[in-house]
Amino acid sequence: MEHQKLIILGSGPAGYTAAIYAGRAGLTPVVYEGLQPGGQLTTTTEVENFPGFPDGIDANDLMEQMRRQAERFGCEVRPSMAVSADLGVRPLRLGFDDGSEVTCDALIIATGASAKYLGLADEEKYRGQGVSACATCDGFFYRKKTVAVVGGGDTACEEASYLAGLAAKVYLIVRKPFLRATKVMQERVLTNPKIEVLFETNTEGLYGTNGVEGAHVVYRRGEADERRYDLPIDGFFLAIGHKPNSDLFRPWLTTDATGYIMTDGDSPRTDVAGVYAAGDVADPHYRQAVVAAASGAKAAMEAERYLATL
Ligand code: NDP
Repeated sequence: MEHQKLIILGSGPAGYTAAIYAGRAGLTPVVYEGLQPGGQLTTTTEVENFPGFPDGIDANDLMEQMRRQAERFGCEVRPSMAVSADLGVRPLRLGFDDGSEVTCDALIIATGASAKYLGLADEEKYRGQGVSACATCDGFFYRKKTVAVVGGGDTACEEASYLAGLAAKVYLIVRKPFLRATKVMQERVLTNPKIEVLFETNTEGLYGTNGVEGAHVVYRRGEADERRYDLPIDGFFLAIGHKPNSDLFRPWLTTDATGYIMTDGDSPRTDVAGVYAAGDVADPHYRQAVVAAASGAKAAMEAERYLATL
């Protein structure tokens, strides 16, 4: 069976930064791209808050540059996705969707988290043209415009408050008659004159010829009281939660209730020696490319130290 010193799962900012550091340390890492080459960032358009790009950079270009930088230092990038793992043996063992099996001495899990979507066909249709799951990433494009945020938790309230600082008007579309968010976040939303909360409202579709121009929504209080109408908006933001891509590793690693991998304090060390978690798969709070990149660097440095002890 093929054996590698260091395998990195995931090709977002965490995975590629880990690969750049590990490559420069002479560890010849192998990156498996996973389901979404380039990671979650590639679902957005322009990145304006990654340091070093004063004019912004196309998200795909940014990831392509990270990939090239990793390859320059000897990293091999493979297109497959891990489908099985055994972290209870030495060497560690992984299986991939192309049928291959590979063992490794150290592993960096940078598999990210996936934003949840409602499952509407229109979300796909308008992805990057008015539909976003990240206000911090895309809010800037909606200055003085009208947007809607879906969700009633802390993330939705936080995103709505953030967007209210930029947009002219923010609708918060909440399916229940109440918000689930913490009291302080609720108050922030309910007292903001730019935010209008639409309780007991669901989205059935989006419309627009040139990107999103509105949402088809339904207000429903029991069966008797149901009203469908069109809500004119320029942007539609999902904030209904994220799912960390950690299922494969849960038999060996401690996660929180949502599935985020728990690490040792500020370090990316997990419960298993030689296994590190970097980026959004271990970060329920920040979920930013630059933060993920930094944790990838830490994971590579830890892996280098660990491999030196073998
Ligand atoms: P949550 O799971 O807390 O909330 C998800 C929200 O989305 C709920 O209001 C839920 O509605 C709604 N929702 C889910 N599915 C659908 C759907 N299909 N259609 C419409 N609405 C839907 O996720 P968050 O991302 O908000 O928060 C995750 C965790 O992170 C929480 O523990 C939160 O406290 C924490 N967090 C903390 C922050 C902070 O402290 N600053 C900031 C952000 C998050 P319903 O209520 O009906 O289920």
